Amino acid sequence: MPGQNPIPPPPDHPAASFTVGGIHAEAALARIKELENEALLVLPGNVTFKQLTADKEAIEAATALLRSTVGLNPSDEHGKDTPARFVQMLRELTTPSDIKWKTFPNDGMDEMIVTEGIPFSSLCQHHVIPFIGVAHIGYVPDQLIAGLSKFARVVKYFAASLQVQERLTMQIAEYLDRELKPRGVAVSLRAEHLCMTIRGAQVPGAKTTTTVTKGVFADHSRTAKAEFLSQINGRH
Ligand SMILES: [Zn+2]
Repeated sequence: MPGQNPIPPPPDHPAASFTVGGIHAEAALARIKELENEALLVLPGNVTFKQLTADKEAIEAATALLRSTVGLNPSDEHGKDTPARFVQMLRELTTPSDIKWKTFPNDGMDEMIVTEGIPFSSLCQHHVIPFIGVAHIGYVPDQLIAGLSKFARVVKYFAASLQVQERLTMQIAEYLDRELKPRGVAVSLRAEHLCMTIRGAQVPGAKTTTTVTKGVFADHSRTAKAEFLSQINGRH
């Protein structure tokens, strides 16, 4: 309508005014920051305001990176949201879910318990492309036993990060050693690193095995370790 102000006035709520044509945006931003600092503001999916602004910068940087290295055309229909998806993917692959750790009293089990073939994928810290494989975990309990699904959760938790396989193996073993206080724990990972199979040396199918043992698995007799390794042998 001629003569009518095309921009509606901001509503009373200062945070809401941010969405109205940019009016009072600065005041609204300041208020959002304040609310977040006071832990009164939770955005959907537990995203924080800080994260949103960091993402904006990351998407701009990703656009420049993908343009200059792989010639991404951000105005192409398929490519226009690629930088944002790329940033979101990196966040997703490096944000672990809660382990929901739970133990139960051990009612006398004194033999080795082995969970084999837990699939995992992680991102190589050197090249930021995946390595994919399976984890085998064995332990001899003392006072505590773990809910069996917890092993998969522990593996996933530490895999959701930029990783090197050796460190990932140690982190899983150390976590279980600390939380279960078992008589011994053994962790073996076997994975294919795409940085080795699709680039660089280009040797598809090559697998890397890393094993960390603690307690009775690492003692001098090595009986438990041999038993563990023989059990998981052929499972890779
Ligand atoms: Zn790599």
